[in-house]
Amino acid sequence: MHEIRLNPLVKWWIIVAEHRSMRPWRPDETAREVKCPFCPGAPELAHLDKWDVVVLPNKYPALVEEPERPKSPGFEAYEVKEARGACKVIVETPSHEGDFYTLSLDHVVKVIEAYSSEYAELSKREYVEYVAVFRNKGKEIGVSLTHPHSQIYALPFIPPRILAELDSMKEYYEKHGKCLICDVVAYETGGERVVYENEHFLVLLPFYAMWPYELHVYPKRHSNSILDLREEEVVHFADTLRVVTATYTELLEHDAPYIMALHNPPTKGNYPYYHFHVEFYQPYREKGKLKYAAGIEWGYWVFTYDGSPEAKARELRASCAKAVQKLGEVLGKCK
Ligand code: ZN
Ligand code: ZN
Ligand code: FE
Repeated sequence: MHEIRLNPLVKWWIIVAEHRSMRPWRPDETAREVKCPFCPGAPELAHLDKWDVVVLPNKYPALVEEPERPKSPGFEAYEVKEARGACKVIVETPSHEGDFYTLSLDHVVKVIEAYSSEYAELSKREYVEYVAVFRNKGKEIGVSLTHPHSQIYALPFIPPRILAELDSMKEYYEKHGKCLICDVVAYETGGERVVYENEHFLVLLPFYAMWPYELHVYPKRHSNSILDLREEEVVHFADTLRVVTATYTELLEHDAPYIMALHNPPTKGNYPYYHFHVEFYQPYREKGKLKYAAGIEWGYWVFTYDGSPEAKARELRASCAKAVQKLGEVLGKCK
């Protein structure tokens, strides 16, 4: 069964994908040469000769191009729709281990180019309302494959978090005649919450962070979507991805887990007030201590911030300074 159901209490769409419960848990690490589906030599990649970055269909897609028609739920309060969409995997490197910070700047640029071209292609499909590009990393957040990869979900609806951002950015724009994130960038530049900065991007722990080490990457120039970034900006964007992931690893003193979410506007319609950005959520609240989304967070959507964002930003800046030294090849500086 494949369908999308509306939770009528909160009006959130739920993707129901029965077969996904069959997907494998982490493959046996000792036999990875045989089992990793993203390593060179895997059957999925047999048709390719040489590659740096490759886009594959997700083997266990939550959304498909030709879904079955869902059965009528038979109750007027219940709403369902077809699970029509696409799920893809971007394998970022032939190397089985690593992250943005272990790849060269040029290589990360190629990963971003894959994000952009997939975003552009999937956006054109008539049934796609939103293209979610994200990266999950680390056993702490339940990632079943360690080989460096990102994911794309082309959705037939706009995610609630994006709807909330659209609402706020629109309201701000109507009230002030300016973009909310452009104003945040202007206000925060040079301030105590900035962790890293290069010519075209600002990395900051937001005033309004929900997770202790949450980091946002904001383009300095108003850019509606990832497709608006100019060539030189893409290079600087790649630079921030290397620095953020290296900073987390320095902070936690191990190859750090995190969630990265690209926030683009919906694919249909015009949202000139929307400002493209990336959000990183870090599951640790301190080295060795995980933060869980528990009763108050999941039960009520109320986040408690353990610590002060300004103090956490100071910690991250110190880790950033060390990370940048190790990276060598960076385009900006830690605040
Ligand atoms: Zn692998
Ligand atoms: Zn803006
Ligand atoms: Fe956002």
